[in-house]
Amino acid sequence: MLRNDQLAEWDRDNFFHPSTHLAQFARGELTHRVIKTGTNCHIEDRDGNKMLDAFAGLYCVNVGYGRQDIADAIAAQAKELAYYHSYVGHGTEASITLSKMILDRAPSNMSKVYFGQSGSDANETNVKLIWYYNNILGRPEKKKIISRWRGYHGSGLVTGSLTGLELFHKKFDLPLSQVVHTEAPYYFRRADLGQSEEQFTAHCVAELEALIEREGADTIAAFIGEPVLGTGGIVPPPAGYWAAIQEVLKKHDILLVVDEVVTGFGRLGTMFGSDHYGLEADLITIAKGLTSAYAPLSGSIVGEKMWKVLEQGTDENGPIGHGWTYSAHPIGAAAGVANLKLLDELDLIANNRDVGSYLNKTMTEALGDHANVGEVRGEGMLCAVEFVKDRDSRTFFDAADKIGPQVAAALGADAVIARAMPQGDILGFAPPFCLTRAEADEVVTKTAKAVKTVLG
Ligand code: PMP
Repeated sequence: MLRNDQLAEWDRDNFFHPSTHLAQFARGELTHRVIKTGTNCHIEDRDGNKMLDAFAGLYCVNVGYGRQDIADAIAAQAKELAYYHSYVGHGTEASITLSKMILDRAPSNMSKVYFGQSGSDANETNVKLIWYYNNILGRPEKKKIISRWRGYHGSGLVTGSLTGLELFHKKFDLPLSQVVHTEAPYYFRRADLGQSEEQFTAHCVAELEALIEREGADTIAAFIGEPVLGTGGIVPPPAGYWAAIQEVLKKHDILLVVDEVVTGFGRLGTMFGSDHYGLEADLITIAKGLTSAYAPLSGSIVGEKMWKVLEQGTDENGPIGHGWTYSAHPIGAAAGVANLKLLDELDLIANNRDVGSYLNKTMTEALGDHANVGEVRGEGMLCAVEFVKDRDSRTFFDAADKIGPQVAAALGADAVIARAMPQGDILGFAPPFCLTRAEADEVVTKTAKAVKTVLG
């Protein structure tokens, strides 16, 4: 086995880490941690340090680490057939079975699954399908996509544009001109408006209407949103938000893309976030929970309305000019089938509902009254603690104070992993669905301790 210092040197000299402060890493200021193994909610590094991973990797290892059934399914698929493509009507038993399993679980107006590798490329596919759709319908000017500030939809060119976080735009010449942003449904951050929650929903709707009016409805193709804002701060929408937004979209013939990369396959305690909020999507993005990240696989679930038009388009224009070498990769598909089976067999979504609400309740009890905690919020197995400098005036700390990262680091030093969300002092929790109540207690107790260490 390689020595740790050797690995550290190779890491520093060769490995370009994503979403990492490159200069700080080079200076050795960031944690250098090499993860070796994992079981259920715990991971272990090469030095034998065991940590409770209360963020499930990047909210993706939903069934937990070390699941033998999925590992066996991957190995069996790799031995039988590691790869064949899915172009011009080809497939494998695993990819065809998985497409049926997904449609069996998806809202009833969904029709087909297009497989990709990551959440980003699935959203890229969505945008291309939307443009193709409107070209077939003879409305080439109806192309813009509306996204929300603080939405997260990937980090490619168009998907990084959809992502409504400054860090993903700045110095990359984004967003592209076809993407326009509207108000984030983030009630807690808009105390300046002095509105009730219902009034704030009406405000978000009015902002959307005004944007559509400004741009012209005949130039707007689609609206994309996560049922609950994820990377932008783990923010469930204000009351009545989705019903009111959908009304506006219908009125202006604007398609709805529901990005369920985080919420798909049980994170909110229902199979899809769309079930939870009564969303009628034209396209649904899936990734992370589809395989619980045992292999890279994503999908765009295409609704019946769009599917009919796409079919008509290829009759006129030849095969659809959109394909990835790894679309429906057999190993990813085998992992997906085994993962969805496990989700059912272990009734993990029911556990998620039970322990997720317990985690949110106990976190609120432990921290809800702390002078520097503005809000504890969540839904299903998602929970966030947002820090404020002053509760009454709802003022926030300077980003330079790094309060969120400091609390996350103190918690990490106590062997619990939470995520300091990238914009604002927000500590995010998204544990695997197999979290036990005892583990939830540990997360809450240690979080309260870390908050005390940093903020008193
Ligand atoms: N959509 C959402 C809602 C996400 O949270 C993410 C990733 N965090 C993505 C898309 C992009 O997925 P990927 O990183 O697999 O490209």
